[in-house]
Amino acid sequence: MEPIRWGIVGGGEGSSIGYIHRSAATRDGYFRLTCGAFDINPERGKRFGMQLGLEESRCYASYVEMFRNESFRRDGIEAVTIATPNATHYEICRAALERNLHVICEKPLCLTSREAEELLKLAKERNRVVGVMFGYAGHQMIEQARRMVEAGELGEIRIIKAEFAHGGLSAAEDARNESLKWRLNPQVVGPSFVLADLGIHPLYLIRAIAPGLNIKRISCRRQSVVKSRAPLEDNAFVLMEYDNGAVASMWVSAVNAGSQHGLRIRIVGSKASIEWSAETPNILSFEPASGSPRVLRRGMPELYPSAMAEDRISGGHSEGLFEAWSNLYRRFAIAIRGKAFSLHEPSWYPDIEDGANAVTWIEKCLESSNQDGRWVKYESCV
Ligand code: NAD
Repeated sequence: MEPIRWGIVGGGEGSSIGYIHRSAATRDGYFRLTCGAFDINPERGKRFGMQLGLEESRCYASYVEMFRNESFRRDGIEAVTIATPNATHYEICRAALERNLHVICEKPLCLTSREAEELLKLAKERNRVVGVMFGYAGHQMIEQARRMVEAGELGEIRIIKAEFAHGGLSAAEDARNESLKWRLNPQVVGPSFVLADLGIHPLYLIRAIAPGLNIKRISCRRQSVVKSRAPLEDNAFVLMEYDNGAVASMWVSAVNAGSQHGLRIRIVGSKASIEWSAETPNILSFEPASGSPRVLRRGMPELYPSAMAEDRISGGHSEGLFEAWSNLYRRFAIAIRGKAFSLHEPSWYPDIEDGANAVTWIEKCLESSNQDGRWVKYESCV
């Protein structure tokens, strides 16, 4: 079968996320980059697209022009990735769905749960796939963790401790480039900085590893440690209670001085605990309540078959974020084209409901923190 004809909005020259999208989507031959509206600056975007080998006529000045022109072509795109700053996701995603395109959207899906509900409705009406790029979920050891929870190896889940706390913006002057500046502008990110930029990654990892858990209540406190950033928070603590009685704490921060990345998660069950860090993605710690702890490694035959199925190079070699994203792009491709498109089994992937739930979670965190951390009920908008 021919690859999915695919375009990108955003992700232009010098952007932080464009390269990994192009690389991950095309790596396995499921998607072919066919066109793009890569940049807010049309000239720069056109130059960049041509540098990538695209025909000049398919390097567009805007997503509006791109969706319109492509919809008139017999060989027009079938899917689009949205890799632009947050405030634009909703309108671009809506416009893509209205043209019957499948969408891979950067996180957050949009800024409000009302927007999320509209996108959900539209995606359903048009029967289109919308994947949301919670990229860390594509790591092999996250699949392994999910299967361990499913098989009951941890027992009943009791406690979750998650963090995404880096120190990349520890001082006011650290917002030095365009990519960082918009993250501190409420007109582009909405009412939250680190909860939306970072917190929804560990939030989705919990969902990916333990999909049976549902949040009941949330309490959140957030701070603008660098005062000039107010009202946006650059640090936050979130407590969560789940419907099975499990409790979770999450720390998100951009002012954890010295931390380079800082995404990690520990899940404590009645029989054992597991721990994973994005900085060492090829290992998963397994600590039984009694007996010796073990370090599980990527690519080893004792892993669950579904984790091994995504192995790209034998154990002992390192895989990383690019492979994790490629795994997700492969799952998006199978969702778009169907099972016959790939030798791989269809698998779970972060979808529009996960994207919508994350948007509601941000709103609930803000609602709680605006009332001094009062517990607020969480109800999914899905
Ligand atoms: P960036 O500022 O580095 O790049 C944004 C790009 O979009 C630039 O090329 C810019 O010219 C272009 N752009 C802006 N508005 C546009 C428009 N209307 N039409 C076409 N192009 C437009 O931003 P970034 O850090 O790459 O972030 C982009 C998105 O990716 C954000 O939503 C961010 O939250 C998300 N992101 C996700 C991850 C992840 O792990 N999934 C990591 C980083 C960023």
